[in-house]
Amino acid sequence: MLDTLVAALVYIVPFFGGLMLFATARRKAAKRATAVWKDSQDAGLIEPSSLHPHIDLSLCCGSAACVTACPEKTVIGIVDGKAQLVDPTACIGHGACEAACPTHAITLVFGTERRGVELPIVSPQFETNVPGLFIAGELGGMGLIRNAIMQGVQAIDAIARLPGIRRNDRLDVLIVGAGPAGFAASLAAKEAGLRFRTIEQETFGGTVAHFPRGKLVMTAPARLPIVGQMRFREVSKETLLAFWKDAKERAAIELNYEEQLLGLERDGEGFVAQTSCGAYRTRAVLLAIGRRGTPRKLGVPGEDQSKVVYRLTDPEQFSGKRVLVVGGGDSALEAAATISDETNAIVDLSYRGDSFQRAKRRNRQRVEAAVASGRITVRLSSQILQIDKLSVKLATTAGAIDLPNDSIIVCAGGVLPTDFLKSLGITTTTKHGEA
Ligand SMILES: Cc1cc2nc3c(=O)[nH]c(=O)nc-3n(C[C@H](O)[C@H](O)[C@H](O)COP(=O)(O)OP(=O)(O)OC[C@H]3O[C@@H](n4cnc5c(N)ncnc54)[C@H](O)[C@@H]3O)c2cc1C
Repeated sequence: MLDTLVAALVYIVPFFGGLMLFATARRKAAKRATAVWKDSQDAGLIEPSSLHPHIDLSLCCGSAACVTACPEKTVIGIVDGKAQLVDPTACIGHGACEAACPTHAITLVFGTERRGVELPIVSPQFETNVPGLFIAGELGGMGLIRNAIMQGVQAIDAIARLPGIRRNDRLDVLIVGAGPAGFAASLAAKEAGLRFRTIEQETFGGTVAHFPRGKLVMTAPARLPIVGQMRFREVSKETLLAFWKDAKERAAIELNYEEQLLGLERDGEGFVAQTSCGAYRTRAVLLAIGRRGTPRKLGVPGEDQSKVVYRLTDPEQFSGKRVLVVGGGDSALEAAATISDETNAIVDLSYRGDSFQRAKRRNRQRVEAAVASGRITVRLSSQILQIDKLSVKLATTAGAIDLPNDSIIVCAGGVLPTDFLKSLGITTTTKHGEA
């Protein structure tokens, strides 16, 4: 009898204790997921931007294997016992959820019924319907760094085999974009001995350079031409960029920064590419321009000054400055809150709307806390009229005011590349939830 009681204490009590702990953890996780989902709905952020999981609820068993597998952590959650894409706009299409699902309830799809995703049509060699014009990386629809690297290399492989390549009176290929796809393509072009030029409208690294500071990047090993194997699986953004920069130096790759492709004209079997810095004659063009688009400008006098930027990269650079953040979405609120949290900058946040409905609750709360402690001044229903060297003129409901100012961060969204692709004659197709 005593033996039985001891056995109960040693085995059964810990077993049930464990079960209770598990149930409590699941309840808390479900509560968190429901809050994230509600926040996304309130902000109207319910449409994923590209490749994302479609969850068949009739097959979902609520195991949460997908939740655990997702490298972005808060994108999927269990709501009412079933998996749900709770933060759809944060999904970047890793696909780990699909692989982890024990009941095959998840399929990766492009676009949704409500919001189609327009994608360029390319051949297996990454050539568009415009002969000699190729596309690699996220612009073609498939996100992720490893895909971008592999596609950049494969596209160059196809370009190197085009008729009329290696003529000395023009470039073999103009590579546009220096994200992972464009960088890998540049290495491949160098390895193949092609005459090439790489232009980039911003700086090195593409989207990766704009990840939040310290972001853990999940990737898979890939081979970089000349450099060899890139072995990372989990790596900080900074370490990855440092590795690529070192590889760039070692391979002596030259990149033309702050040069934007504006348009292409046919030139026999090749093109004349017009850029913001001049023109290039080239046999082929590889577009590796991603899908984030070009930051939208305000179009006000004085905007061309170097104190105006379109994203927050390092908050520290604003220390001790008078900073105006412009915009009412998540990026604007995050930028204003981060600068005020991490530096002693004087921060103003200007938005033409009368509330921050378009932003997620957690960002609104961060700004509210900073306003309450006097670290941010919010100026709703205001618009920039003119930017001067040490000040900025704002139209407000109380009339025009001049604010002392050293730096401006404009977070007014981006112009998606779809129209640009069409202007180049590239045929696209719209996906409404197709695998
Ligand atoms: C928040 C976030 C987190 C992510 N986390 C991960 C992760 O952990 N792991 C992972 O594998 N992937 C991740 N991704 C996805 C990954 O960043 C992209 O899939 C990848 O960067 C795509 O590479 P790309 O070279 O095709 O395009 P991009 O990296 O977007 O680079 C395109 C470049 O082209 C330039 N460009 C655009 N237009 C022009 C023009 N007209 N002229 C000249 N240059 C131009 C742009 O300035 C940009 O530098 C994440 C994405 C986001 C947004």
